[in-house]
Amino acid sequence: MRISNSNLYYRDVFLGHHAAGLALSRMEPKLSLGWWVGAALWPDLLWAVFLYTGCEQVRVEPGATAVTPLDFARYPWSHSLLMMAVWATLAAGAGWLVARRKRAAVGLAVAVFSHWALDALSHRPDLPLWPRGPLVGLGLWNYRAATVALEAGLFLAAAALYLRRTRATGAVGGWAAWAYLGFVALIAVGSWFGPPPPDRGAIVATGLAAWLFPVWAGWFDERRQPLAQTNSSSTGA
Ligand SMILES: [Zn+2]
Repeated sequence: MRISNSNLYYRDVFLGHHAAGLALSRMEPKLSLGWWVGAALWPDLLWAVFLYTGCEQVRVEPGATAVTPLDFARYPWSHSLLMMAVWATLAAGAGWLVARRKRAAVGLAVAVFSHWALDALSHRPDLPLWPRGPLVGLGLWNYRAATVALEAGLFLAAAALYLRRTRATGAVGGWAAWAYLGFVALIAVGSWFGPPPPDRGAIVATGLAAWLFPVWAGWFDERRQPLAQTNSSSTGA
């Protein structure tokens, strides 16, 4: 597995998924941002594991769409609509176990489904409805400017909402949050305008490294506290 110098190879929606995690986190402040980012990224986190183990396939194909140089050849377990229902149900169970709140359970399920919705909007028709089932995808990735405008807009709005909704309780909660937002934005720019990944190994390595994002988000979120909670703050455990 070889990684070249510029290893900012993340070729799925990415920025939009981080935006979904940041935005949905307001549904239930009892759940750390790490859970929300983890749920919104979940199919891609699994995808990296399934690529690594060989159950799913991807090929580097420059020009596959205007935005991504990847051919998502086979990814029924991480990305079919049917499996999304399974992952969303498990996410809801995790949300309930951790926070004991209906909004946490429903919210994490919505975060998982938001991934499929954003992917279905962006991908060419390569997302299976169920394993070996029909493929769907609306193909926004054929239009680079529209993709960049949509994802950047969603991300900036979600980041602004999160930063306004929470306040750092110390230095780490400030700089670590800004570093996360900046790093995520940098990777997105690299993936839109940088060279294609040299090989499948680089995609897998980047995808596995993405498991650190939920950890990072949970780390700084614990060092921030919600401001002006309007509801659901009354029943702290
Ligand atoms: Zn995806």
